[in-house]
Parts: sequence; structure tokens; C-alpha cells
Amino acid sequence: MIKDLNELEVWFVTGSQHLYGKETLKQVEKNSNEIAVALDRCSAIPVKVVFKPVLTTPDAIHKLCQEANIAKNCIGLITWMHTFSPGRMWIAGLKSLSRPFMHLHTQFNRDIPWESIDMDFMNLNQSAHGGREFGFIGSRLRIDRKVVVGHWQNPDIQSKIGVWVRAAAAWFDWQGGKVARFGDNMREVAVTEGNKVSAQIQFGYSVSGYGVGDLVAIVNSVSDHEIMDLVETYEQLYQVPEDAKGGGSLSDALKEAARIEKGMRNFLEEGGFSAFTTTFEDLHGLTQLPGLAVQRLMADGYGFGAEGDWKTAALVRAMKVMAIGMEGGTSFMEDYTYHLHPDGMKVLGAHMLEVCPSIGEGKASLEVHPLGIGGKADPARLVFDVASGPGINASIMDLGNRFRLLVNPCDVVPSDAPLPNLPVARVVWQPYPNLEVAAGSWIHAGGAHHTGFSMAVTKEHMEDFSEIAGIEYVLIDKDTTISSIKKELRWNDLYYHMAKGL
Ligand code: MN
Repeated sequence: MIKDLNELEVWFVTGSQHLYGKETLKQVEKNSNEIAVALDRCSAIPVKVVFKPVLTTPDAIHKLCQEANIAKNCIGLITWMHTFSPGRMWIAGLKSLSRPFMHLHTQFNRDIPWESIDMDFMNLNQSAHGGREFGFIGSRLRIDRKVVVGHWQNPDIQSKIGVWVRAAAAWFDWQGGKVARFGDNMREVAVTEGNKVSAQIQFGYSVSGYGVGDLVAIVNSVSDHEIMDLVETYEQLYQVPEDAKGGGSLSDALKEAARIEKGMRNFLEEGGFSAFTTTFEDLHGLTQLPGLAVQRLMADGYGFGAEGDWKTAALVRAMKVMAIGMEGGTSFMEDYTYHLHPDGMKVLGAHMLEVCPSIGEGKASLEVHPLGIGGKADPARLVFDVASGPGINASIMDLGNRFRLLVNPCDVVPSDAPLPNLPVARVVWQPYPNLEVAAGSWIHAGGAHHTGFSMAVTKEHMEDFSEIAGIEYVLIDKDTTISSIKKELRWNDLYYHMAKGL
């Protein structure tokens, strides 16, 4: 499981041709190496940027793409045309490239040297038209990709590259990724269903079900010593009430939660999984619905979906990879209940238990309370609030003939008053442009009640990610109206029906 993005690399690839002579190509190589080194050093780009020799022939381009496909840590290519690189030279390479690429449309020099510019300078610095030729062949091949335009030393440009790199890292993580499902989907629920074969073909991750008994066997093999170690960790990290300590009345419930956490962690590690689902309808042999365990596994980078929701589990995992090393957390989420007061309509997001403490503010409180659903013993869970700031909700749906990624930015706001009787972690937010249009649009788009919620990942990450994944991207934002989104959805239906023939 990827934990450090610096283990990964993106290759910096420069296109040219032989027409310019050795001297010019030497200079092209020197300049592009300088750009690659600068991008490698800049903090906005979290992976290694590896300089590759300038490409001047179809064979060299094809060979490099083949190498990228099998390189262990190469998540994609940043392509740049310093000079003119005829587009047909790229056809074989780009057709065979299985890694994503982005097009950096930059120029080595920022400014035109008005006083000294001559034809030698013009021959060397041809990005303005070289990038257009390369752009044509990408569009002619119908390859979706990010195009970043501007000078490579500009922090905004570096940040846009960094966003794409994070999306590419999440995509890389999905390839061969494994999602474990403990139990099936919640009975009769529609939106959490979907075609797992289609998902594996489109996204690269596999989803496999396990009888909860397989998990219970591992949970039951956890030793008392391991349980006590974990309980000690809980007492250090969280506010633990007195009656959950020592021989207190809730201490057995806490030990049981620790046993479940350790067992789940062992199961996921042994199987090489990076995401998982549970369901409260299938807990045979588990004394509690896993709450604390799920929360802590999510905090360690696992994707999660409740009620068998494997699409959201994989999405949360992807968002967690994108967010590695960034401020702000990422969690499984559900639009739970509304505040419809005309002075400021907002959403209270939560779940039965499973909200990731990476988004929490301050020291979480570890509590044991009854659960009004599932008919099991009282589960342990972390309870916390979330500090104000910008966030997003994202959802992936299976529409039968395609997947749609739906994204809605929001502002996390304080609750109007403390919530002393609410025994779960919660977030309060105002979606853009407002709750009326956001929820209306979300519903027209068929968005799920489950989401990946993040205060680190932005709509730009998600747009880049959907482009790499080759799926529909629908954004509900400041300019959205119900009328505009209805049209967009209708047009998209038509587009995706016809797109196979384009
Ligand atoms: Mn749910």
C-alpha cells in the first residue's frame, strides 16, 4: 500500500526532431534537464520527476512508452515540446502507452528577449507551435489529458502539475488494487450496487467478497496481550471515559473493539487490501458493528464504504492517496440530516459510526453507546467535530453503461450550538452554490448518499482523476443552476452513448 508519494516517479519527456542539428538538440537537452530538476525539487510536486533523454524519432518515443508501461514506480509522463516534434512520430508510442500523461505547454525562457532575438533563438524556442502539433495528435487519438499552460517556474503552474501528479498517483494505486468486502450490500439498496467486472475493466481494482466468518476467525485469534497494547494506545491518543478503563463497566466493550481492530488490520494486511466494506446486516460472530476499527483503519489510509459500498470504499482510498502529505483529512461520509432554516441551510454529515478522525479537530473522545440498528452490543467509536474550512464531497455511481464522478465543493461551518447528545463524529457544511441547488443537482445526477469527503483534495484533483480514469465528471459549483445541470446531464447521456463512435 502506497504511504509515501516520494516512492513514485513521473517521467519528464521532451519531444523534438533531427532537423535542428546537434547543437540545438544539445541545448534542448540541457534546458529540459534544467526544467525536470526544478520540478523535481519543487515542493508542490510530491513525486520524483525523472529526466528522460530528448525524443527525436518514432522508435525512441515508442520505446520510452513501452518502458514507462512496465517501470515499477512510473505513474505517468509529463510531456513538453521545446521545439517542433511532428505528431505522427507519437502515434505508436501514445497508442501503446498505458500510463497517463499530461502536457506541459511551457517555454524555457519566460520572456521574449526583445533586443537580442534572432532566428537562432526562434529555432530553439518553438513550444508555442510545437505544443500545438503535439496537442493535435493527442486530440486526434481522442486521449483525455491535462494541459497546463504557463511558465514552468511559476508556482501556480507547478501547483497544477502537482495536482495532476496526485491524481496520477491515486490512479497508479488503483491498478491492481484490492477491495475486500465483509458481507454483501445492504439489502434492497440501489446506489451502492454496481458491476464489479465493469469497475475492474475501467478502474483496474478488484473487489472480492468474504464471509464474515473468515474475518471472525482472525479476530478471534487476536491475543489478550495485543488487545491490551491497543487499549493502551487508545488511552494515549483519545479521551477515554473512566468507566471504559480498568475494570469499568465499558472496558469489555473497548477490549472487544480492540480485538476487532487488530483482527481486521491483520486480515487486510495479509490479503494486501487497500480498501474494504462492512455491513451491519452481516455481523455473525462479531459482537459489535466495527466502528472504532474502521475509523482507525481509515486514518491509516484504507478506503472504506459502509453497507457494502465498494465503489465509495475505492473512491475514499483514491482520495486518501491524492491527499498524502497534505493538510486536511479525508473520510467516508454520508449526508445525514439537514438544517433547513432560511437564514442558512446546511447539511450535517455523519454515519452510524464510521467517520475518519483525519478530518477531526482536537483530541477525539472515545465513547461506547448503544446503536439503534443492527441488534448487536454497544460499539465503541471516536466522537469529534470538524474545524471550518473548504471541503468537497465526491461520489461515483454506476449508471449501467458508464461510471459518473460527481463532485460538490462546500464550506465546513460550525454547528449553531454544541451537540452534547450526538454520539457520533459529525461535520456541518454548506454546499456550493447553496443547499437548494446543490442537493437538487446532486439528486438529478443520481449522486449517492455515501461520499468521499475531503478537506485536502480539491475539485481540480477530482477532475484530473476522472480524466485519467476516462469517466464522466459532473461538477456542482458556484455557477451551477438546476436548469444548467439538467441540460448537462442530458447532453452527457447523448455524448457517452455516441462517444464509442467518435
Ligand atoms: Mn450509509
